Amino acid sequence: MDLLNTLVDKGLRRELPTREEALAVLATSDDELLDVVAAAGKVRRQWFGRRVKLNYLVNLKSGLCPEDCSYCSQRLGSKAEILKYTWLKPEEASQAAAAGVAGGAKRVCLVASGRGPTDRDVDRVGKTIEAIKEQNEGVEVCACLGLLSDGQAERLKDAGADAYNHNLNTSEATYGQITKTHTYADRVDTVQKAHAAGLSACSGLIAGMGESDEDLVDVVYSLRELDSDSVPVNFLIPFEGTPLAKEWNLTPQRCLRILAMVRFVCPDVEVRIAGGREVHLRSMQPLALNIANSIFLGDYLTSEGQAGQADLDMIADAGFEVEGAGTTTLPAHRADALAAARAAAAQGPCGSSAAEAGCGSACGGCSGHEAVPARAAAEAPAPVPAGAPAQAPAGEVRSDLVAVRRRGAGTDLAPNA
Ligand code: SF4
Repeated sequence: MDLLNTLVDKGLRRELPTREEALAVLATSDDELLDVVAAAGKVRRQWFGRRVKLNYLVNLKSGLCPEDCSYCSQRLGSKAEILKYTWLKPEEASQAAAAGVAGGAKRVCLVASGRGPTDRDVDRVGKTIEAIKEQNEGVEVCACLGLLSDGQAERLKDAGADAYNHNLNTSEATYGQITKTHTYADRVDTVQKAHAAGLSACSGLIAGMGESDEDLVDVVYSLRELDSDSVPVNFLIPFEGTPLAKEWNLTPQRCLRILAMVRFVCPDVEVRIAGGREVHLRSMQPLALNIANSIFLGDYLTSEGQAGQADLDMIADAGFEVEGAGTTTLPAHRADALAAARAAAAQGPCGSSAAEAGCGSACGGCSGHEAVPARAAAEAPAPVPAGAPAQAPAGEVRSDLVAVRRRGAGTDLAPNA
């Protein structure tokens, strides 16, 4: 297929495909799907070999959010029966993180619900980062606390954060239909603040919210423009009790095409299969590892994923290897660019330290990991109950596929890792 040869050539050169080429990937037929996966796999292997990076989510503060993101089980007015709790203590968060690291995770993602952190929240998260790094040598920490005010990214970096996550989620054109309490521009601003502070920017999307192919291509092009180092691709699982509870639009084939499009547009970044992996890719998860080089291990923020051991078995069975702590995830050119950005941020605008230079006003918002209710059973790799259709009819609530998290952070039960 000429299209795929062109996309592979461009991916190996880090050249941006045309919008028409990106749209054509989403329009490929099922007969062409394995060729699409193989082509995206060539690009993936060029930049990331056969390594899979494992990330581990710790939900520092769950539910009770004043924002209204339609996809989110923690939103204002959500009727989803999720765990609700306020800030974990640093030692509690560190204990949860240690379980993920022991399970093979290289990065811990610290997430808190809410529009954005207060300065006191930033101090609290700073202490949590210190506790985690003290107990887990070499671990990367990513913070995901919502919209950042001026100076907060610098303070998180000084506390030891390596990365900051804030997802764009969907295209600028449709953002207002998903959330009314903050804007797409607010989100872009926070990703830029993270970048400017020398943090590795992590920003991704949620597919399956009723968006068009053009919307998906738009948001992925925006992510490339923002130069995110990692791009989490969430597949919406409509959480009962949220406005999108009936949006069951995805098939495993569609998910694979979306991942391939992301890989072609952002060839040398960490493409992470995020929430909804088990529910929407189901038995096709191993195939998706040929495209993405990163996943979350174990559970999500408010929902349960497949057992951590099932993740590890899947990676080994598919012929991939878990990326070790001593390996740099990003290709050398990106790692070098990040190191240069960190050095520049440390200098600050007038040669003073960035932390000294920073101060400022509030903004707002938060990341989209909450859109990740996952599978019902924790032990077997395939989440679909016997007799369930391959794709739930649109408009039907499928609470049988969504297991609310009842273990790990915020509970007395051991985490899944
Ligand atoms: S995504 Fe973040 S800001 Fe939006 S409702 Fe959920 S927790 Fe709140």
